[in-house]
Parts: sequence; structure tokens; C-alpha cells
Amino acid sequence: MRAVVEQITPWHPTKVKLQWTVEDVTESGNFTFHVERSGSSGGPWTDLTPAGLVNTFLFEDPLDDEEANTLSLVRDIYYRIRMIAPSTCEFYSPVVNLDGLVEHTMMDEEPGNPARPIPAAQFEPDPATGITRRPRTRDARLRLIKRTMLRNMYLMLKHLNGIEYALLKRRHFGTRCEECYDPNTNESIKSGCTSCFGTTWVGGYFDPIYILARRLASQVNTNVSPQGKDDINKARIQTLDFPHIEEGDILVERVHNQRFLVQQRYFPHVKTISTHQTLAVSELPRSAPEYKISVDLS
Ligand SMILES: [Zn+2]
Repeated sequence: MRAVVEQITPWHPTKVKLQWTVEDVTESGNFTFHVERSGSSGGPWTDLTPAGLVNTFLFEDPLDDEEANTLSLVRDIYYRIRMIAPSTCEFYSPVVNLDGLVEHTMMDEEPGNPARPIPAAQFEPDPATGITRRPRTRDARLRLIKRTMLRNMYLMLKHLNGIEYALLKRRHFGTRCEECYDPNTNESIKSGCTSCFGTTWVGGYFDPIYILARRLASQVNTNVSPQGKDDINKARIQTLDFPHIEEGDILVERVHNQRFLVQQRYFPHVKTISTHQTLAVSELPRSAPEYKISVDLS
């Protein structure tokens, strides 16, 4: 089992948004997360969420405390996630900087440092590069450009062509569904399960996140069969690159309560900066159990 920072986005003017994921989940129950921040990749670390965040995957650092003031955005800021699994085992994510680059160069004394022994479940960086995983924007100079582009796109969505959507992120950790989960095959053995909506995790989806997005071209495919016409409404939806949206997530257009399943995603890059994501979605039929998930439509 591993906790990984999936996305880190410096947000205008001085916020940092973090999104994480849990990989190779082997436990069921409550997962608690602590977001830790430091001015150096080796620590010392400040726990920004002393009470812990339970069964969630997002955090916004307002960078408004005393420590944040000393960590100006000109310098680098590092984050890591401490995850406490249902078994109370602790896991540390690799360390990321504001560009999503993982560059945790272990200090020599660290393995023997009783203040921070290397946790057994933390994966170690490549000894040659110090980088463990998924390097993203490699050029730190592009950070400002990215922030400006994100800001412009956000303003365009807000004032011009954006619509409010609720994002339902498909659960990938938590408590396993007792109605339908088969631990032998790791799959749901009951179709139409309304306890987990086929995800095998109780609740099916995380609490809705309200975002702005715009609908691109829409295409209705009509299949004519003896029973009548069957419309499949496919569309493309464009949104900012945070939070990261994946296949299997659901987008709810709040005004009409139209629900779309994300089937494919595209990441256009300008130079090496990703600022938005384009999603191919298809509308769920009104009879779909996913319409039972509660979303604030007002
Ligand atoms: Zn189920």
C-alpha cells in the first residue's frame, strides 16, 4: 500500500492545492491523512492537519500562517502525506515540491535519526537522481507562467463560459462493500449495487466537489431498435487541471442534474505545462443508480 501525491497546484495568489491517491490498497476501513510541509526536502516537517483528514484526498494550504510567511514562493516548498491505515500502520508519501517534482534526497544521517527514521513503507528515491516518481514540470521558471494561465482560464470559466458542475470522484479506498465485494476476485459480484455503485467501496464516490467547467461539442448518437429510440449523449467537458479527474468519475451539471460518466481524458500541454484537462463523457440514463447519489443542486 502506498500514498502518493497525485497533483500539486500553486493557486493564485498564494494557495497550494494538493490531491493524493492510495495505491495497491490492501485494507478496509478509515484512512486518516496528515499533510506535512517543509522548507526543505529533508524536513523538519510541520503537520498542517493535526486532527487528521479522514477518507479524503484533497487539501488546500492557504499559506497564511507564520511559517508560510517565511517560506516565500520564490523558495521551494515541500509537502508529503502521512497516511494512517485502518490497521494503524503509518505510510509516508514521497516528498513533492511545487512543480510536482519528487526530489527527496535523503540525508546521510537520516536512517539513524531517531527523530525521523525512514518508515518501512516509504519508497526510496533513486540514489543517482534523488527523484522517485512522476516528474512533471521540470523547469521551475514555468511555474509563474502556469499560475497565470490557470488564473486566466479560471476567470474565463467564471465570467464567460463556465457552468457549475459537481465532481464525484470514484472512491479507491475506504471501507469495502459488504453487499457485493468478493475478496477473492477483488471485484463486485452483484450488479446494480446501490451501497457502492459497483466500485466495491462503501458510498461509491467521495463527497461532491463543486467546480467550473465548460461543455465542448456534444454529439447525440441515436440507436434505432424495435423497442424504440435510444439516445446516447456524448460530450466533451473542459476544466482546470485541478482536481485531477479520471475515467470512472462522474460530473453532474448542477442546473439540470445531468450526470456524465468520464470515459476518457486528454491533457493538452503548452510547452510542458498542463493547465486544463479535456474529458470525453457520456450521459448516464436517468434510470442509472448514480442518480441516487446526493448532490447539492442549488
Ligand atoms: Zn456493493
